[in-house]
Amino acid sequence: MAKFEYAPAPESRSIVSLRESYGLFIDGEFTPGAEDRAFKTISPASEEVLAEVTEAGPADVDRAVIAARKAYESTWSRLPGRERAKYLFRIARIVQEKARELAVLESLDNGKPIRESRDVDIPLAAAHFFYHAGWADKLEYAGYGPAPRPLGVAGQVIPWNFPLLMLAWKIAPALACGNTVVLKPAETTPLTALAFAEICQQADLPPGVVNILTGAGETGRALVTHPGIDKVAFTGSTEVGKEIARACAATRKKVTLELGGKAANIVFEDAPLDQAVEGIVNGIFFNQGHVCCAGSRLLVQESAYEDVLASLRRRLATLRLGDPLDKNTDVGAINSAAQLAKIRELSEVGEAEGAERWSPPCELPVKGFWFPPTVFTGVSQAHRIAREEIFGPVLSVLTFRTPAEALEKANNTPYGLSAGVWTEKGSLILYMASRLRVGVVWANTFNKFDPAAPFGGYKESGYGREGGRQGLEAYLDV
Ligand code: NDP
Repeated sequence: MAKFEYAPAPESRSIVSLRESYGLFIDGEFTPGAEDRAFKTISPASEEVLAEVTEAGPADVDRAVIAARKAYESTWSRLPGRERAKYLFRIARIVQEKARELAVLESLDNGKPIRESRDVDIPLAAAHFFYHAGWADKLEYAGYGPAPRPLGVAGQVIPWNFPLLMLAWKIAPALACGNTVVLKPAETTPLTALAFAEICQQADLPPGVVNILTGAGETGRALVTHPGIDKVAFTGSTEVGKEIARACAATRKKVTLELGGKAANIVFEDAPLDQAVEGIVNGIFFNQGHVCCAGSRLLVQESAYEDVLASLRRRLATLRLGDPLDKNTDVGAINSAAQLAKIRELSEVGEAEGAERWSPPCELPVKGFWFPPTVFTGVSQAHRIAREEIFGPVLSVLTFRTPAEALEKANNTPYGLSAGVWTEKGSLILYMASRLRVGVVWANTFNKFDPAAPFGGYKESGYGREGGRQGLEAYLDV
């Protein structure tokens, strides 16, 4: 496979008009923070400052929770479902109308390739609002009783890997079920959440139904521990998830946690090889591997090992790394200096523990945060790179001989979010899927998402489901 040289095809960033600084979105308005504290958000591809963003303190959290409570009691929970649905449909349509702008903004702030933000993040975010708009007036048929009630005010904290999409996963079901929300985006990726605040204004959403508080971990902590919150929804690291679970224990708060993963992507010898290699690449190099359900452990049947590895190396040599706004780019920037440091550290540990490291020839830009697609072979189950979530473009390859061995290795992890199975045998797919202790099993594909399909984990990958009929339960008093 030759790597063709393409002329650069950058998406124009002039479609995005960034403000120099942003306030907090509380009660339908952008307002300054009580403490006058701010931080800068940068482009991880160039380290250029994109905007200054307000850091919300406890007084701001208080204000936002009060606004959300007022909106919950005076309007949102009283509206019939069909009226809430209209707002959700309107938001979905505005997200679609602004899709190009939102995609550029996401790629600028997050570092992900424009092809992914344009074709995956933003369309899926719109789809989540459309899907949940459909539920808003049908909740009594969702299987949770004849008149399911909302919970109240939801405090939601999201990570930086899919900023607008995670916002949609959180806000769409909450609103459809009649709750109001206070959401904190990640410190490094606040811009699409702030653009979403403008969308709420454009959609004439009643003030206080959605409140967006920018800030760092402290803001998140203040939000989830606020006594005025009825429901906490968190996506992020297992470590912070455990802290939140402890903080909410013995309170009336209902909690859902979507945490880390260390998914096994299992390739049997009879799998369609080219398709499997595409699935492996998608599984771990999509979004620079910043994916909780990434297929970061490749388990290959020993008899197919040489063929799979040779194909995989050939394929990786064709990946283009560089400018996230270039439509030819396959692998963008690592989201932050801190995340890059973590990926480097764990990769060095991998080498030190005796695994063999390989990357295709790949020139890294001088400015910004970059890491080449990397494959470790000779990995044993005891290695840290086989056990810990690296959250970067790093694949650990292990082998197996029998389905039972594959299962044992795949399940040998504290996580349980997702897995992939590649084989032509339907019976083997069913055998594996029913024994893999994970929330999602993809068969002969990987990283497929749909708002109608519930997503969530077992074990230390968290609890609760997002999406589908099952996801509604997290926002209803049932
Ligand atoms: P965190 O879990 O720290 O961040 C997730 C969100 O929680 C962010 O909005 C963060 O704010 C916020 N937060 C941080 N501390 C607290 C707290 N004590 N209480 C409430 N909210 C808090 O993940 P990181 O961004 O630090 O990433 C660390 C590692 O976590 C990654 O290397 C990766 O392995 C894993 N991760 C997993 C994700 C997944 O989906 N499974 C997603 C993101 C990370 P802020 O960003 O401002 O710090």
